[in-house]
Amino acid sequence: MSNFKIETKCVQGGYTPGNGEPRQVPIIQSTTFKYASSDDMGKLFDLEASGYFYSRLQNPTCDTVAAKICAMEGGSAAMLTGSGQAASFFAVFNIAGMGDHVVASAAIYGGTYNLFAVTMKRMGIEFTFVSPDCSDEELEAAFRPNTKAVFGETIANPALNVLDIERFANAAHAHGVPLIIDNTFATPVNCRPIEWGADIVTQSTTKSMDGHGSAVGGCIVDSGKFDWTKYPDKFPGLCTPDDSYHGVTYTERFGLEGAYITKATAQLMRDLGCVQSPQSAFLLNLGLESLHVRMERHCANAQKIAEYLSNHAKIGWVRYPGLPGDAEYERAQKYLPNGSCGVISFGVKGGKEAAAKFMAGLKIAAIETHVADARSCCLHPATATHRQMSEEELVACGISGDLVRFSVGLENADDLIADIENALKDV
Ligand SMILES: *Cc1c(COP(=O)(O)O)cnc(C)c1O
Repeated sequence: MSNFKIETKCVQGGYTPGNGEPRQVPIIQSTTFKYASSDDMGKLFDLEASGYFYSRLQNPTCDTVAAKICAMEGGSAAMLTGSGQAASFFAVFNIAGMGDHVVASAAIYGGTYNLFAVTMKRMGIEFTFVSPDCSDEELEAAFRPNTKAVFGETIANPALNVLDIERFANAAHAHGVPLIIDNTFATPVNCRPIEWGADIVTQSTTKSMDGHGSAVGGCIVDSGKFDWTKYPDKFPGLCTPDDSYHGVTYTERFGLEGAYITKATAQLMRDLGCVQSPQSAFLLNLGLESLHVRMERHCANAQKIAEYLSNHAKIGWVRYPGLPGDAEYERAQKYLPNGSCGVISFGVKGGKEAAAKFMAGLKIAAIETHVADARSCCLHPATATHRQMSEEELVACGISGDLVRFSVGLENADDLIADIENALKDV
């Protein structure tokens, strides 16, 4: 499967049925698995044999879908999680604990920012946030002796900055730590961060991968390329025996290809249990089968609408990485030559009231806290997700009162434009 192009991996990756077996991925809706002897089962617990025993650790349906995403991202091992939040948490917590430090881009999803700056800080992990456009000196100054990882998003939600992945990977590697990239907005159809030097990739599969607003989920993919054994003091969890798992040393037993994901499964999933259900994994797989077709249309529709908006007298500004002249355009041409994502941000002239009025007048796009769905949707952060903030606080976090986040769906682009045109008439 690794030699095939992304479209073939979307459709067929992860699952090759044998003679007379189901054509579609079977939903193994079973919490537990049967064995003939305690000895057989004991080998699984000791990680000496591979097999299933309890769906909190592993489930065949989830593993099949994880293997597809692994192939799509070009990784060596992958696991599904119950949500994108769980994927971000596990990806960092697998290699950083109390007393450790992580460098993160400041342009990341609000939920991830909160996870890092509040909840994981409470667990004793410090984060330094740097602008994705910071100077080399600022990036260098963010590292500390106890830094364990660098984190960023290919395309930031909702700011739409495109990360210079190569630059952040080089900085991480110069300090002996991996780069973790949240690739949710781009998806592996439009960007494969591992090809640009990222070591670990996460996804909120809830968004484009599912694409139909039907199942919350996440995924972590390891490239298998980061050599933990070069820095055993930095990554003792991977390079020294795990007493909670019969003294296994993950890098010795599973090699660089398998150590990181095996540890995250055997330790974090065992103890924290943020699993994706087999039903959800099945729905996710249905979404993946058409991801390459849908992404192309999301991007084509968004491009058309971004161009229309940028010429509209009632629109103050438009942010879309595919728009020539956009601050992110050059970087998008490098990292996302086939398209970026379906999300556009823009400002309606007249501020907060005008934006709210415009959105209320839309008939096709619904008001939702969601993105990357087949159905267009939009959000006014100043009166929704960020409504508790004062005008000053909104400015400080880059959310102006006029900002509308519009997630362009798979409807006809001319219908969407006519709907926007109509809603703007009343503003
Ligand atoms: C939505 C989102 C998340 C969180 O994912 P959930 O599946 O909602 O937990 C993480 N990162 C990005 C970029 C997102 O858009």
